[in-house]
Amino acid sequence: MPTRKRIALVAHDARKADLLDWVRRNASKLAQHELFATGTTGARIQAATDLAILALKSGPLGGDQQLGARIAEGQLDMLIFFWDPMTAQPHDVDVKALLRMAILYNVVVACNRSTADFVISSDLFDDAYRPVLNDYASLLV
Ligand code: PGA
Repeated sequence: MPTRKRIALVAHDARKADLLDWVRRNASKLAQHELFATGTTGARIQAATDLAILALKSGPLGGDQQLGARIAEGQLDMLIFFWDPMTAQPHDVDVKALLRMAILYNVVVACNRSTADFVISSDLFDDAYRPVLNDYASLLV
């Protein structure tokens, strides 16, 4: 994992304000890294900050799948995903698939603000890092 991390930022509608506030508070640190987002989350971040961020498709229209594909191709190091635990999502299967890819490929995942705070304040956030390979790593090419 390089020092300049490739980080995806995603929030369901009810969690967007929370993620936006977290991004604003950590903007100077996040600016050192390469940022991606699902469509609506990315548009909100672009409107509220000066951060360079690549907004993919909206989550329900395939954005989660695009992020999952990037993980499978080794192009994403970290997923900050504030998903909504109180509302059924039309693309629930996509959400599940994205989270599964993140675990399978051992990328860093934060699904709530406390975890995101711990991740971004870790010494490892700006350092090179070699993830420990999982038992099933031999199955991955
Ligand atoms: P959105 O997608 O940023 O386009 O709202 C988020 C999601 O539901 O994955």
